[in-house]
Amino acid sequence: MAWRYALMIDPAASEDPRTDFSGTFTVVDPTTPALSVGELSTQRGDGIFESIGVVNGHAQEVGPHLDRLAHSARLCDLPAPNREQWRQAILRAAAESRAEGEGVIKLILSRGVEHGPAPTAWVTAAQAPDNSAARTRGIRVVTLDRGYDSGAPARAPWLLLGAKTLSYAVNMAAIREAKRRGADDAIFVSSDGFVLEAPTASVVLRFGDRFVTPEPSGAILHGTTQMSLFDHLRELGRAVAYEQIRVEDLSGADAAWLLSSVRLAAPITSIDGVALPVDAELTASFTDYLLSPRD
Ligand code: PLP
Repeated sequence: MAWRYALMIDPAASEDPRTDFSGTFTVVDPTTPALSVGELSTQRGDGIFESIGVVNGHAQEVGPHLDRLAHSARLCDLPAPNREQWRQAILRAAAESRAEGEGVIKLILSRGVEHGPAPTAWVTAAQAPDNSAARTRGIRVVTLDRGYDSGAPARAPWLLLGAKTLSYAVNMAAIREAKRRGADDAIFVSSDGFVLEAPTASVVLRFGDRFVTPEPSGAILHGTTQMSLFDHLRELGRAVAYEQIRVEDLSGADAAWLLSSVRLAAPITSIDGVALPVDAELTASFTDYLLSPRD
């Protein structure tokens, strides 16, 4: 990752009415250490984050990312982020790191320093990796049991399954397991057989003329890219739906994609070794749409 810019934020209360938050930002060198050794984000993964795609200096889907940051903060009992302050920080990072091509802005809100008075917050901007092969050639995926049944989020909300927390070690382990099995990525399924999400992406399937994604329940993140693509498909007059999808339905899909803010739409070429047709033209139209400026 080529880091371009980093900003520490002094988090303001959510109701702080200021219109200019520039006094709460401190630019730091993204290549040198900036966090205390007592940071709970690094000690325990105790915090939340967002990854926002940037295309030619434009941060994509800022509103939906801020909505999800606020949702994750609620689930994790973190202070509600000041929406305007974070919005200004994102715009500053996008402007300061301005460059042609694709980038990624990360927002991080941590519980803070152990015994410390306040959360720690920062924003980084970096160059995005080259995702063109995944977007055009596609990816092989395997299904992996997440180990929870579909009642787990309601029964055990402390699992924080619907929050985008910094505790991604499990998600990274799932991708390593997928690679050990000869695939590129994974689709998590519940222990009672329902399709959930990928470790860093949402799942969208096409059955005939309908585009379907797993119902956003407390078990998965509601993907900003999937929501945006569904808006686009609706505008084109295509049918979209949130549904419960059983694992055995995957092999009946006419096409499938993993969707996320930086890799965008990666067509799936096989699931558990069973080939899936790739609609190259449709996928290219998704990529064109997802690379266009979106708010
Ligand atoms: N689900 C998980 C677990 C993720 O980590 C992500 C993205 O980071 C997504 C879904 C897709 O979300 P988005 O489209 O907002 O990037």
